[in-house]
Formats: sequence, C-alpha cells, structure tokens
Amino acid sequence: MEQRDGHIFVVGKRKRGEAATSERAVEANPEKIVIVGGGAAGFAAAEMLRREQYAGSIVMLSDDEAPPADRPNLSKDFLAGKAPESWVPLRGESYYSKNQIDLRLGTQAVRLEPRTREVILAGGDSVRYDRLLLATGAEPIRLTIPGADQPHVHTLRSLADCQAIIERAATARRAVVLGASLSAS
Ligand SMILES: Cc1cc2nc3c(=O)[nH]c(=O)nc-3n(C[C@H](O)[C@H](O)[C@H](O)COP(=O)(O)OP(=O)(O)OC[C@H]3O[C@@H](n4cnc5c(N)ncnc54)[C@H](O)[C@@H]3O)c2cc1C
Repeated sequence: MEQRDGHIFVVGKRKRGEAATSERAVEANPEKIVIVGGGAAGFAAAEMLRREQYAGSIVMLSDDEAPPADRPNLSKDFLAGKAPESWVPLRGESYYSKNQIDLRLGTQAVRLEPRTREVILAGGDSVRYDRLLLATGAEPIRLTIPGADQPHVHTLRSLADCQAIIERAATARRAVVLGASLSAS
C-alpha cells in the first residue's frame, strides 16, 4: 500500500510476513507508547514497561483529574476515615516525572486514527503513537430514574466522588446504598 495526497493506494501484493522496512523497525522497536486510561491497568502497564527497561516515550492519557488511584480504598479505609488521602494514589506525583511517564490528566481521548496512528483529544489536539494501549476500564451504571440527579445522590467511582460522599456523610442522618457488590460492602 502507498499513501498519496491523503489517499491509500493498493499497489501490489505483499509477501506473507513481509513489512515495509520502516514499519518493521517500528514494530520491533516502538519509540512511543500511548496508554489511554489512568486506572490500575494503565498504570501497571506503564510501570512494567519501565521496570522491563523500555526506554521509549510513554504517554498516559486520563480524563480523570486525579492520578491513578487505589479505587478499592475509596469504598474502604479512606471512605471510613481510617486512611489519609496520601494512601489513595497508586504512586506519588514525582513517580511519573522520575520515570519519564508523561501523565496527562483531565485529557479525554475522543477518536482514534489507526491509519496515521493518532489519538484525537477533546479540544482537537492529537497524540501520535507507535503502540496504543486502551485501558479505559468501566463506568458504573448511572441511574436515569427520577430523583437520581439530586445533589445528595452520589455515585462512588473516583476520588472526587468519594470526597463528596465523605463531606455529605458528616451531616447526613441516613444513607441508602444501591448495589450490593464489592464497592458496596
Ligand atoms: C469504589 C470502588 C471499590 C472497589 N473495590 C474493589 C475491591 O475491593 N476489590 C477489587 O478487586 N476491585 C475493586 N474495585 C474494582 C477495581 O478498582 C477495578 O477493577 C479497577 O479499577 C479496574 O482498573 P482499570 O484500570 O481496568 O479501569 P478503571 O479503574 O476504570 O480506569 C480506567 C481509566 O480510564 C480513563 N478513561 C476512560 N475513558 C477515557 C477516555 N476516553 N480518555 C481518557 N481516559 C479515559 C478513566 O478516567 C480511568 O482513569 C473497586 C472499584 C471501585 C470504583
């Protein structure tokens, strides 16, 4: 295949297993890995890449404002007031700069362009990659029933959600928990 004027042309059949020289170099030795998602999975991948001596560039994009966090703590010791906030982040802020992990918080990926190997961000900027890891996790099911949008109804997912619940619990007299799995216990 060839790219000209923004179009892709099929120019012949490539032999099985054969890749263009530049593609082969990138396949064998990616210079830049972009991770979309700032949860435990994205963090673990970035940490392991550095531990295994990956020397290229690592960019982590997260639409959360807080760095990768120990979410289980948000429904346990931190929520109960038995752990300080410093226990919540998986690593301190300096970890990322020391390990040359370009952590970009409050940054939402809205589109992928696999052909040009780019992640398009809300706001229109783009980030190029040689390898892309999608570690975007899961979102809680937010109720759409009447009343669910009231300010005293919370979803427990992020550090900000947990802080809001703690604040409300200081004066609340009764709480109702919807959901009966790990986070609720
Ligand atoms: C309150 C709570 C308590 C829990 N307790 C336990 C427990 O006790 N035991 C247990 O095993 N598990 C527990 N879990 C589940 C556990 O935390 C998850 O399994 C784990 O967080 C999954 O990690 P992840 O990285 O795959 O996804 P997530 O933690 O969901 O992270 C995904 C990340 O991707 C980001 N993202 C998503 N879309 C985009 C986008 N388009 N652009 C940029 N960034 C994006 C999100 O902001 C987030 O940072 C709990 C979860 C919660 C919320």
